Amino acid sequence: MARYSIWSLARNALSHHQHWPRQWRSPEPKRHYDVIIVGGGGHGLATAYYLAKEHDITNVAVLEKGWLGGGNTGRNTTIVRSNYLWDESAALYELSLKLWEGLSKDLNYNVMLSQRGVLNLAHSLGDVRAGRRRAEANRLNGIDSVWLEPAGVKKIVSIINTSSTLRYPILGSTWQPRGGVARHDAVAWGYARAADARGVDIIQNCEVTGLCRDTAGRITGVETTRGPIAAGKVGIVAAGHTSVLAAMADIRLPIQSHPLQALVSEPIKRVLDCVVMSGAIHVYVSQSDKGELVIGAGIDGYNSYAQRGSFHVLEHQTAALVELFPIFARLRMMRTWGGIVDTCPDASPILSRTPVPGLYINGGWGTGGFKATPGSGFVFAHTIARDEPHPVNAPFSLDRFVTGALIDEHGAAAVAH
Ligand SMILES: Cc1cc2nc3c(=O)[nH]c(=O)nc-3n(C[C@H](O)[C@H](O)[C@H](O)COP(=O)(O)OP(=O)(O)OC[C@H]3O[C@@H](n4cnc5c(N)ncnc54)[C@H](O)[C@@H]3O)c2cc1C
Repeated sequence: MARYSIWSLARNALSHHQHWPRQWRSPEPKRHYDVIIVGGGGHGLATAYYLAKEHDITNVAVLEKGWLGGGNTGRNTTIVRSNYLWDESAALYELSLKLWEGLSKDLNYNVMLSQRGVLNLAHSLGDVRAGRRRAEANRLNGIDSVWLEPAGVKKIVSIINTSSTLRYPILGSTWQPRGGVARHDAVAWGYARAADARGVDIIQNCEVTGLCRDTAGRITGVETTRGPIAAGKVGIVAAGHTSVLAAMADIRLPIQSHPLQALVSEPIKRVLDCVVMSGAIHVYVSQSDKGELVIGAGIDGYNSYAQRGSFHVLEHQTAALVELFPIFARLRMMRTWGGIVDTCPDASPILSRTPVPGLYINGGWGTGGFKATPGSGFVFAHTIARDEPHPVNAPFSLDRFVTGALIDEHGAAAVAH
């Protein structure tokens, strides 16, 4: 793999950028792989990369029914943070944030991590109590979270409306300075390029239509739109389609798939240099490097596999945005889009072996899995390679829906990001 550097940039500038090599190969599927990963989003590609890098398992294929990152990875609003409440979640999301901090260097690919800070606003006494509790719990877990009074919020975001006459006035906020945003496409492409360089086959336009098992019930491979492919182990990393894939092995998951949408405004000069989120009035916003406001809110209330949402959700979140930022009232919106998110009852993911030997599931990230991409890939690769969970993902196994040891992160997951 040719390394990206100032020298390769200069060399290619001299030849008018005509000779950059392809970032990854496009091989025909082999007949057999040690591991098949179903789903070429960030989590699937990261899993393949860490299988090769950390466990020396390189006879791996990532099968993607569309194009790389065309699922939620390329559709999300790119917020990265680790300020979750419970110890189990803090360990997982903080592992991810630490990996994010070295990711561009590790992958030799600029994932444009911008640690501009994340505010989670409080608008009621209940919010204030939950926010303070979460900030303290975060600090006990070594996470850089603090509680701010309204004046502290105003100091960070001068254009925000902190008036006490608001219908839902700002009563304070948590603040994580190391949170921020990263470039979603670059994350998929960076992992794909680095995995390919280690021998992983990345196969696009290849939909998995069935899971094959032997008479003892063990996974033996997959059926695809490009024919059957044998495999020793299969990892399902298919986000909104997690339960569809699991059903192919007769596994019924406690997951519901919902549309989640977002929108961007026309580009404007830089006015907002951190991420602002409100779980109570239900909107969040950041400003992209192109100057557009990137705006999101909650899931649509019904189940669907359509990658689009309803108008009233957009109407609600823009009303909430204007209440917080009257300065944005006359902005025009340019684009909206939607993804399909797989939500678990406790708003925490599933990273687990399954009752079917050789079959593993990484899903249920719902509205907030982008931030976990590196850590999720890292621990899921461990789970597949060793056939046992990494200590960080052990609490996120399927068993918890039987034992009742749920990890309720509805508060931290809050406004769907
Ligand atoms: C609008 C929106 C905003 C969001 N904002 C944030 C945010 O700000 N921060 C955050 O942390 N998270 C956010 N999320 C959630 C985040 O995007 C996801 O949790 C995360 O990207 C999931 O990554 P993934 O790799 O598991 O899934 P995906 O990127 O969806 O990848 C799964 C892949 O599996 C493929 N697939 C499905 N079925 C098959 C099959 N049968 N055969 C082969 N391939 C198959 C799909 O085509 C897809 O490419 C947001 C999501 C949306 C929709």
